Amino acid sequence: MAIVIKTVNEVEKMRRAGGIVREVLQAVRAMVKPGVTTLDLENVAAKLIEDAGAKPAFKGYHGFPCVLCTSLNEQVVHGIPSAKTVLRDGDILSVDCGVVIDGFYGDSAITIPVGKVAVETQRLLDVTKASLEKAIDTVRPGAMLGDVGAAVQEMVEAEGFSVVKEFVGHGIGTHMHEDPQIPNFGQRGRGVRLREGMVLAIEPMVNAGGDAVRVLKDGWTAVTEDGSLSAHFEHTVAVTKDGAAILTL
Ligand code: MG
Ligand code: MG
Repeated sequence: MAIVIKTVNEVEKMRRAGGIVREVLQAVRAMVKPGVTTLDLENVAAKLIEDAGAKPAFKGYHGFPCVLCTSLNEQVVHGIPSAKTVLRDGDILSVDCGVVIDGFYGDSAITIPVGKVAVETQRLLDVTKASLEKAIDTVRPGAMLGDVGAAVQEMVEAEGFSVVKEFVGHGIGTHMHEDPQIPNFGQRGRGVRLREGMVLAIEPMVNAGGDAVRVLKDGWTAVTEDGSLSAHFEHTVAVTKDGAAILTL
């Protein structure tokens, strides 16, 4: 599939979708505390998306059952909200949300500390978020896709963590997943050249230990092979003539 270039008007539609995702994630962040279940978060998110006149992007996607992915501690991505998953002090929870409105998608993720987390745990979150910011800083017309992945990988590995290789970011638009794939590793100057009107979901997934992951028997939840903690941050970002425009702010 060719990379779809969006018009300025289409990018504005995507900013609307992105704004709804942002609202949902902010509401979820405000709710997160010990004793809350991931199903509580799911229920609030589902209501907010409906009230905004949007549709959830994940629910029903290849049969995924919920509007949020909630991935706790060693879970990397695609965790399923559940009444049995009770948040505890010191946990970290990655929350990923996507919506579609007026035919266009938005997709964003954050990792939230529950109560008071260990210093090293907070460092994992800070480095993952900073690696996303570094990646976004590379985005402008004429930059290469390899610059984006390299920015993530260089920062994460310099801090002693590892980037997940099996899951990648993606183009986004009238489909949640469009070309190109956006790995969180790579070489500067390699890959697709970025052009104005491309929209990218950039999403570093960072493990405190090794980079290997496996999927649990539920068919969805990806966890670190070594049981180490994992963090995930994502923004939907448009390539504009002035550089990157984050649509999920
Ligand atoms: Mg996402
Ligand atoms: Mg995504």
